[in-house]
Amino acid sequence: MPILFIGHGSPMMAIEKSIYSNGIETFGKKLPKPKAVLFISAHWETRGTFVTAMENPKTIHDFGGFPKKLYEEQYPAIGDIELAKEVQNIIHSTEVSLNYDWGLDHGCWAVMKYLFPKADVPIVELSIDYTKPASFHYALAKELSTLRKKGIMIIASGNVIHNLRMIDWENINTPYSGYDWAIKVHERIVGMIKNGDHQSLVNYNHLGREFQLAAPTPDHFIPLLYILALQQENDNLTIFNDSIVGGSLDMTSVMFA
Ligand code: ZN
Repeated sequence: MPILFIGHGSPMMAIEKSIYSNGIETFGKKLPKPKAVLFISAHWETRGTFVTAMENPKTIHDFGGFPKKLYEEQYPAIGDIELAKEVQNIIHSTEVSLNYDWGLDHGCWAVMKYLFPKADVPIVELSIDYTKPASFHYALAKELSTLRKKGIMIIASGNVIHNLRMIDWENINTPYSGYDWAIKVHERIVGMIKNGDHQSLVNYNHLGREFQLAAPTPDHFIPLLYILALQQENDNLTIFNDSIVGGSLDMTSVMFA
């Protein structure tokens, strides 16, 4: 099964068509239909590691101050309790607990809506333990590799550059509107992905001030590491939605297949 990292941007992408939502949608049409999706979202950070284990995960509207229409969005995919238990069993580097009260946050459903519009693929979310370093997440992700062979598609979503404090909201929908430092970081990150230089990316917060501006908090960057860790030697890389909006939000998305 292919593995994907999707840049998700503003929650408004869920109801506003853009070149980015079109990019994800077009891409989704080329994907095989998996047995289930294991999803790693920037918007589910926990102390400890959890997987959702409910039959019907709810659509979570985890944002504030947006139009009513966005709160009415529903993504009625079912869960997959067997997959949740399997994830619990195959991860040995840390304890994984079953979770019964989360659901699908917008980092997940706003992306899945375009990849699988019929909501006909079961989804399990895996949380990001915010107390742990990037190297922990990279190592944990490697333990998931057997799932790919079993028809499970692993999808992560975040943004490789995500600095909300510096966002230029007037250009939030303008492609290629990155600040100079962001364009530089973008080029370096894409270069490292293409060269398979995962160690530099795991150590991204030691790469200087520009990288610190790009990821002032780790939440939106870490999901990328899950997908890189799962890259196999014979995988082909596809990069899409490859640009920055609003100065400091990078929509770059990656697939290995
Ligand atoms: Zn986000």
